[in-house]
Amino acid sequence: MGSFKDIIGHEREIGILKSAVVSGRMSHAYIFYGPGGIGKKLVAHTFANALNCSSPEDGDLCGICTDCLAGFRANVLEVNPTVEVKKDVFEDDEENGLVRVHQVREVQSALRYRVERGKKVVIVNSADKFMPQAGNAFLKTLEEPPPDSIIILITSRPSALLPTILSRCAKLGFRALSNTAVASWLSQTKGLSENDAVLAGKLGDGSLAMSLRYCDEGLAEKRRTAAENLKNLALGNTLTALALAESLCKRDDLEDMLEFFKMLCRDRLAGLLGMGALAVNSNITEFSNYDAGQKDSAYRALLEAYALIEKTRFETTPPRFGNKLLALERLFLRLARNKAFA
Ligand SMILES: [Zn+2]
Repeated sequence: MGSFKDIIGHEREIGILKSAVVSGRMSHAYIFYGPGGIGKKLVAHTFANALNCSSPEDGDLCGICTDCLAGFRANVLEVNPTVEVKKDVFEDDEENGLVRVHQVREVQSALRYRVERGKKVVIVNSADKFMPQAGNAFLKTLEEPPPDSIIILITSRPSALLPTILSRCAKLGFRALSNTAVASWLSQTKGLSENDAVLAGKLGDGSLAMSLRYCDEGLAEKRRTAAENLKNLALGNTLTALALAESLCKRDDLEDMLEFFKMLCRDRLAGLLGMGALAVNSNITEFSNYDAGQKDSAYRALLEAYALIEKTRFETTPPRFGNKLLALERLFLRLARNKAFA
């Protein structure tokens, strides 16, 4: 059973939560927001466990009492977005799923029973993915919270939550981890060489989960493909752009690819501004030599490209689920024309 001591970073947020455990004064609902993959869920579970430990030490769980050893399962409920795999059968899927009204009903009926001791804690992952009806039903629980219950909503996109939900929760913002902290954790825990750990740390950009995924061969390959795609686009024409849209729209890892496009775009901007050392992919980014006149338009083209890629990511991923092919065609036609990657 992990305690707060085992968590990398987030000292300020953990300090606030430990004080709440010590004083017993806390909000009935929290929003933990911040970039994905940095440990918000882990902090939420540890907070829930500390609230249910019978002899917490300085706001942290003791790890040895009967409650700690029993694992708190009875008092901690986790809700994940789900996809319907066949009629009325749902599976957790944080990336593509939605939080549905039947899940909210389950939470509501679980909260009706009072706990013998401690607190009943509901942790909702990807809380920006409530279906509208589910969000409205959940709002009722937030408006009249059952006694002895704490609700923790976790999200990397707080702006996608209903304002009525936002206004009823205490907000705790989590920041990205430092790349060096992630790199040193990776080299100690995963035995990565220093070079690989530093690169994985930079690629994760403060997200431990992303860095860990980078350690899989798959992600390194995707990054190379993304760089090649942009290069071909710069050399090609309208047909290249349309073909690229068609091939990318069939991939189930479109969001990763768009994140890589953004990262490569950011790297070129860093190079253009004379800060190539800040580029994440310095080993595969070609920095062009611009003369003074070209620099200005290249800068504008790259900024525009970045905004377009982000817009496409927003439109094609949940909760939007926009038409992928159309969105990608528009993106690549504009990128081919604006010459950001030429
Ligand atoms: Zn304990």
